[in-house]
Amino acid sequence: MNSSVEVKQPEIVVPAAGQTGLLVNGEWITPKKGRTLDVENPCRRTVITTIGASDAEDVDAAVAAATAAFPKWRRLASRSRGALLTELGNRITANVEEIARVLAAETGNALRTQSRPEVQSAAEVLRYYGGVVAEQKGETLPLGPGLFSYTTREPLGVVGAIIPWNSPVVLAAVKIGMALGTGNTLVLKPAEDAPLAVLKVAELAADLFPAGVFNVVTGTGIDAGAPLSKHANVAKVSFTGSLEVGQLVAHAVADRIGHATLELGGKSPCIVFPDAATPEHIDATVNGVIAAMRFARQGQSCTAGSRLYVHKDVFDTVMTRVVAKVNELRIGDALDERTDIGAIINAERYKEVRSFIAEAVEAGATTLTGSVPPAVEQADGFFPGPVIFTGIDNSWRVAREEVFGPVLVAIPFSTEQEVVQWANDTVYGLAAYVFTNDLTTAMRVTDQIDAGWLQVNRAGGQIPGMSYGGAKQSGIGAEYSIEGALESYTSRKSVTINV
Ligand code: NAD
Repeated sequence: MNSSVEVKQPEIVVPAAGQTGLLVNGEWITPKKGRTLDVENPCRRTVITTIGASDAEDVDAAVAAATAAFPKWRRLASRSRGALLTELGNRITANVEEIARVLAAETGNALRTQSRPEVQSAAEVLRYYGGVVAEQKGETLPLGPGLFSYTTREPLGVVGAIIPWNSPVVLAAVKIGMALGTGNTLVLKPAEDAPLAVLKVAELAADLFPAGVFNVVTGTGIDAGAPLSKHANVAKVSFTGSLEVGQLVAHAVADRIGHATLELGGKSPCIVFPDAATPEHIDATVNGVIAAMRFARQGQSCTAGSRLYVHKDVFDTVMTRVVAKVNELRIGDALDERTDIGAIINAERYKEVRSFIAEAVEAGATTLTGSVPPAVEQADGFFPGPVIFTGIDNSWRVAREEVFGPVLVAIPFSTEQEVVQWANDTVYGLAAYVFTNDLTTAMRVTDQIDAGWLQVNRAGGQIPGMSYGGAKQSGIGAEYSIEGALESYTSRKSVTINV
């Protein structure tokens, strides 16, 4: 045999035919009405594969399976539930490459910069919850002589989890870890644009949890997400997605006095003080600004620091460096290891991003880099490429609304008071970034900004263990931490005994 013959690996291995349907009660089934949806590669504009499209009837079956599995699952010792989460994390680690390639193909998120790190992070999240869920402790209370009172943390029941397409594997891991770890059962609905990598994770989980504990229904928001959020037997909905859909979910849950966690959008400020632009610090600051904007995920991140406020004294210096560095980023096919930035998820979102860019150009914004991308009809893949605007103020639509694309607005500021006021002048309050090497400035400014997660001289992703959640209209509840899991996925039961 000629050992020099190269065996070409398949580019991606999509979930097996039987596994592109629904996982209900431990079985892979097809939707009752037999309907399907195509999943596309946004870098190539080709169909990857076809998945089952569930509706209310299928959601009913999944919720029934989760309801039946709940009594036994909740009684399992929490450390035993944790061991299964750890095992799922380990299985993901053993299959990182295969899952990451599927993820890159369906989301358009570059393999090297985004998809592979996301899958690694999902495994870490599951191992984190695997370890800490044994901390599902209650309290004892000194209610006075003759009374002994204690609390326990009780799971809520069936959790319906609805996730978006921008980082589906790690968000699935967060929901699985929090819901199952605390003794709830789960019906997970991935986004219609990016369900395949989540189905890969479901393949790994299918024989791990008892039947009915973990179920997956694929389908559209209207046909599968809405019935799940409205279902009378779903005790809690954990939703990550847009503000608009979050409002619909909140209404649906309120109608039955259910529980909800909402992780919604953002328009996060990124503030650069002059002392972060000295020769010693400027490189780190510029890298931080670019990382905060999540350019490597085409800006499709809820925590994107998409409003950049730079002190007027260092504005030109900082922006020259930011633009030069952004222009070095390589845009291309998400499966190519050399690619830094992939594609926008679909034609509709691409059109929307394009309209934000065109509107700002039309209104006279100064373009520091980028241009209006070609119309959908002319685009081979959905690559707008990074755009940086200046010459605008906080009142412009591009500075107020979540573009969810690689569009950064840069505005000079004069005083700390002014920039804090601008930073807070938004309905959102998800994240914020502050670059300064003066500790008192950092503490004063972070204290005044209304956001769920503030980072100083850092712009990385969430780390398991930290509580993460939005302020204002960016959401309700916290995820990623054990406190978040206990607060959001359990209720306290008090027992008071006459002794
Ligand atoms: P989206 O709200 O359109 O969809 C999210 C999910 O909701 C999908 O699974 C979709 O099928 C489902 N859905 C749609 N309509 C529904 C309905 N009527 N009822 C129930 N479910 C429905 O969001 P998207 O475009 O997929 O994702 C982008 C948004 O997600 C951005 O706003 C982003 O900021 C936000 N996001 C937030 C976080 C966070 O942690 N705060 C993380 C990632 C993304």
